[in-house]
Amino acid sequence: MIIDTHAHLNFNVFKDDVDQVIRRSLDKGLWIINVGSQYSTSKRAVEIAENYDKGVYAAIGLHPINLETDLVKIKVDPKEIQFQPKEKDFDYKKYKELAQSPKVVAIGEIGLDYYWKPKTKARLNLFKEKQKELLLKQLEMARELNLPVIFHSRMAHKDLAEVLKSQTQNEGVMHSFVGTPEQLQEYLKMGFYIGFNGIIFKTIQGIDFKENIKNAPLEKILIETDCPYLTPPQMEGRNEPLYVKYVAQRIAEIKSISYEKVIEATSQNAKDLFGI
Ligand SMILES: [Zn+2]
Repeated sequence: MIIDTHAHLNFNVFKDDVDQVIRRSLDKGLWIINVGSQYSTSKRAVEIAENYDKGVYAAIGLHPINLETDLVKIKVDPKEIQFQPKEKDFDYKKYKELAQSPKVVAIGEIGLDYYWKPKTKARLNLFKEKQKELLLKQLEMARELNLPVIFHSRMAHKDLAEVLKSQTQNEGVMHSFVGTPEQLQEYLKMGFYIGFNGIIFKTIQGIDFKENIKNAPLEKILIETDCPYLTPPQMEGRNEPLYVKYVAQRIAEIKSISYEKVIEATSQNAKDLFGI
């Protein structure tokens, strides 16, 4: 069995063939966690999961870039959703209701994202504060519901680590980890899992994915696709859960262990963390 711990089959780009994509994954013994990015995509992730007896799960949450702010304009990706207003605030009650489905196995993806940011210092500070506030509310919900967290962090590791150290610990995974060896150690020390996907095939300045994969113990690694994004170079077009095998192969190669061992360990890790 393989588990793609971070997919977005709940996104617009899969609306016409989501069932086929899931069927061909399940047929190969591949399980999927579809991750929400705001209320509509979270709800969709739950609806999809409820169509299957086993093997398809959901995470729900409000991604920091989907929080409405007049501090900076962030465009909505049409691959993700067709027109949909951003959320003015995090509606705790609504999300909590959604989490009542037994298919919901995590809160995510949530975190901090400083990729698009306001230009003045005062506005930037406000922007960061707003994101932190949103994150804290969702961490509280995760603890209340006893669910692990799928973290998103872009250009924000320092602040994220600070937030996480400042409050009661949640369990979770640093999805799509792009950081330094020091940041990796910091998260490992806090007990988090580390998620790797097709981004490991890219060259990103200052990031040594090979080193990070070597330094992350196998019992702390999760594999994911983040589909439809980050298609591994072996394939082209839209990414999908089946392509997670290329990520597993690369990890096996870097760690000089067998592909089977990577699959076995990462599946066990996902089962332990998400209780599936
Ligand atoms: Zn994602």
